[in-house]
Amino acid sequence: ECKKHSNSDIYIYDDKLYNASQHQSLIESRMETALQNHEFEVYLQPKHDIVTEKIVGAEALVRWNMDGKIIMPDEFIPLFEENGFITKLDMYVLDHAFSYMEEWQSKGYCIKQINVNQSRMLMYRSNYMEDIKKIIKRHHVDTSAIVLEVTESVALEDMEILKETIQSVHQLGFEVSMDDFGSGYSSLNVLQALPFDELKLDRFFVKDMGVDHEKQKKIIQYIIELNKSLNVRTVAEGVETKAQLEFLRGIGCDIAQGYYFSKPLPKNEFDKLLEKEQGNE
Ligand code: C2E
Ligand code: MG
Ligand code: MG
Ligand code: MG
Repeated sequence: ECKKHSNSDIYIYDDKLYNASQHQSLIESRMETALQNHEFEVYLQPKHDIVTEKIVGAEALVRWNMDGKIIMPDEFIPLFEENGFITKLDMYVLDHAFSYMEEWQSKGYCIKQINVNQSRMLMYRSNYMEDIKKIIKRHHVDTSAIVLEVTESVALEDMEILKETIQSVHQLGFEVSMDDFGSGYSSLNVLQALPFDELKLDRFFVKDMGVDHEKQKKIIQYIIELNKSLNVRTVAEGVETKAQLEFLRGIGCDIAQGYYFSKPLPKNEFDKLLEKEQGNE
């Protein structure tokens, strides 16, 4: 496995040590063929209704299966954001999300939506909408079953362009989610100015709420109430404990996602989970 050491820019791949620039070269030299060879795998993490605890959706999270070693997004997404390859990968993942939903619907599984992360780079592409339309045409899935996630930091940097993008994808029928809320310099202005359908509380925000964080809890409670009044649903990311789940349920959070329920899973394992819950015959 290709691992980054926390305090240095040294990577391990195939029992060899690489520095950051060698790591970058390895990734960049292999990314195009990796896409063609389907080395990128779209994993799924369930989203659970906080009251019924049933699966209501899933988030698509990409992994790179490089020579049988699973490489995590933190190892390559930042690089792809720099070299622009992320725009291709994001369209690949979106296409898979449509396929997955199409399959679940045809098999009669009851799963409302699938979330897909969309890089900020896409906002600057003039043919973003055309690319999306091509994907829509390839599938028989209503776009309202797809939720596009944009990260909070984009909102702050490119408020105007993001607003236009949201309006365009809304016209195509997609929902939009604001990811990682509370991770950066969140501003209430973001909530007010942008027409999101869903807000995802960042996992560090959720984590800190653990013990003795009365103020933190009040802030989360306030955001959830504000979302309700704006008709925005709240998803808590990174829910790891029963205590977190119960607190979030108590203050009206709608959906929970996190290791408490499940890690992101390969498609076939996720399907088994659905099968187990819904007992499809
Ligand atoms: P994200 O969109 O905020 O996704 C949630 C991350 O939190 C995932 O990490 C997930 O595995 C992790 N997570 C979920 N529940 C828990 C929990 O209970 N505890 C802990 N500690 N972690 C939890 P992952 O899969 O490593 O992805 C990291 C980031 O990479 C994502 O953060 C997203 O920003 C980016 N990413 C992943 N797939 C894609 C993609 O297809 N396109 C783009 N543009 N970005 C992606
Ligand atoms: Mg996300
Ligand atoms: Mg994200
Ligand atoms: Mg997130």
